[in-house]
Amino acid sequence: MTSPSQSLESYFYVYSSDRNGDSRPITFPREASKETGTQKRILEIVSSLAFICVSQAEGEVYATAIRTERSLSEDSAVIYLAGNHGVPDSTAKYLQSVLAQLAAISRSQPTGRDQSPELNGAILRDDGQKLGMTILRHTFPKFLNSLTKRDYAWNTRVEAIRGQLADSPDRLKLFGLIEKGLLVIYESAARYRANTDDTSLKRLYEGLSVFETFIRRGMSSDKLSILLEDLDRTTAYYPWSANSDLVDDDLELDVNDNNALQTGFSMTRFIYRIIAVNIHIRRLLRLAVSSTFQSLFVKDPSIYCCPPAEISVHVDPAALTHALNLDGLMSLDDSAATVTGPLHAELCIFTALLRGVLCEGSAPYWVIGVSKLMCVGCHILIAKAFPRVLQKYSSGLKPFAVQGTHGKMYRPWVAPNLTFATTHLRFDLDHEIRECSKDLLVTALKEYVEQRRLSDSSIGSGTSDKKDSEALGDDSYERTMDILDQDNKQHPPNDDA
Ligand SMILES: [Zn+2]
Repeated sequence: MTSPSQSLESYFYVYSSDRNGDSRPITFPREASKETGTQKRILEIVSSLAFICVSQAEGEVYATAIRTERSLSEDSAVIYLAGNHGVPDSTAKYLQSVLAQLAAISRSQPTGRDQSPELNGAILRDDGQKLGMTILRHTFPKFLNSLTKRDYAWNTRVEAIRGQLADSPDRLKLFGLIEKGLLVIYESAARYRANTDDTSLKRLYEGLSVFETFIRRGMSSDKLSILLEDLDRTTAYYPWSANSDLVDDDLELDVNDNNALQTGFSMTRFIYRIIAVNIHIRRLLRLAVSSTFQSLFVKDPSIYCCPPAEISVHVDPAALTHALNLDGLMSLDDSAATVTGPLHAELCIFTALLRGVLCEGSAPYWVIGVSKLMCVGCHILIAKAFPRVLQKYSSGLKPFAVQGTHGKMYRPWVAPNLTFATTHLRFDLDHEIRECSKDLLVTALKEYVEQRRLSDSSIGSGTSDKKDSEALGDDSYERTMDILDQDNKQHPPNDDA
């Protein structure tokens, strides 16, 4: 079906055409990671490490992986770190300091037996706060960007929600608690932005932590999750959902498992974006003291920054859509062209790990973490094509556990150059992986046009396992928010004191 001259990259220039012949980008269904057990936990570690490296408001993506080294004297671990556009020295140094703090926290925990949760909690609270502040300081620009995405028409939206909930005092009260938390966080963030001192940062971290706990407990009960689902169901009726700036273009990790993909402003997704940093901090702390992973963190791993790569490829989308011959697909440009793109961070890691295994005999964990969900290209290549190729040929290589995909195709996306592998394997990995990725894309595109023909909308809602939970609106939440609120009022952001 496809001509061999068609590059894999050409597929990323194919658009969907609607009845009027207008183009729109193709979006495949979102897919979650299928990992379980230990792989899932290691994936959490590397994903969280990647997430906490992101500082810039937009356009920054990191990927990480872990390799262990065994020397005569001791075991050690190496964290691989890659960015879409390289890794700034300051980011590598920051991650090293985070790893050193996690190592210290790991060492402070007793090993080999169950620990008292109270003792554990006390140590974690103090060290966790220090770690949390380090991470929040680094990630603040990104955090602030997520937080201020609400600004457009926020008050209108809140008023509308209050009206919507007017008949239901319980739900109105619950929404009031969310609103209060968000307001306190917003004002604390404004204050830290103006002063950038540790006191303001500590306040902000405290407010965020309390809010995150409140949301986490609330989402495991029906009350809060149903309220948010209801609010998000009515999103489409609000004018600001038409504003493309608010349509999620940069989906975070699957920390919000309950959240079905939808366009427009989602209150649930907004909240999860804001508390994402705390979720990752808590995860790292939990795993650093877990009996299974303590030994990994104690090693105080060193960091290896993978070099970034710009790759030029030939694309010919018109010839490809012609060859595919599928109604409902089109190309925007008629002429073939050479395009250059950065190799996505996870593909930099993928290449570096394979090079390490094949050329140096190193032993990685077969896991790659990314600071957000993966794009279609990276996901198909790493999570689907690579394992298929490994089934076909024996090689000693293993599939990598990875996150899910947000289902979007990016242009220009480029595939990694794996030709170095040929001298170490009995097959041409580079060629096989490209061909297999193309086959998978053809299948996916066929399903896509078929689905579009059958129905316009059939976005399923996410499933969530809801556990019975503690009561909502507990006193400590309201008390803490009141204290922080008072404090913010006494020290407005532009107060230099
Ligand atoms: Zn990608």
